[in-house]
Amino acid sequence: MDGCIFCKITRGEIDSVKIYEDEKFFAFLDMKPINPGHALLVPKKHIDNIFDIEEPLYSELFQTAKKLSQSIKNAVKSRRIGILVEGFEVPHAHVHLIPINKGYELDPNRAKPATPEELNEIAEKIKKELWK
Ligand SMILES: [Zn+2]
Repeated sequence: MDGCIFCKITRGEIDSVKIYEDEKFFAFLDMKPINPGHALLVPKKHIDNIFDIEEPLYSELFQTAKKLSQSIKNAVKSRRIGILVEGFEVPHAHVHLIPINKGYELDPNRAKPATPEELNEIAEKIKKELWK
């Protein structure tokens, strides 16, 4: 969709710190992570509400989330990966994958900007885990 920031990111028209891409999905690091390694997974197809995504794409989204979560968890050595979906900021379905060590950490108010160096360093670690 024209004007959608996530569509532009998946098409490479806006720079992002990409950690994963295949023909249907794109994942990149949040520039304002709740914790280091906080990633966003989006379908390349523009769909606003996550629950409007039809099968098999919906299941594939969560299979991809599962695969990415393991790599993120290994890369940043967090206890768990929390999932957050709300969609008020960008009307293009996205799943936040957030490394957490306690449940209360899953709070958007804790997000703070990371430097490009920090993001690139973590992205490299995650990518290394993904291709193990
Ligand atoms: Zn979009």
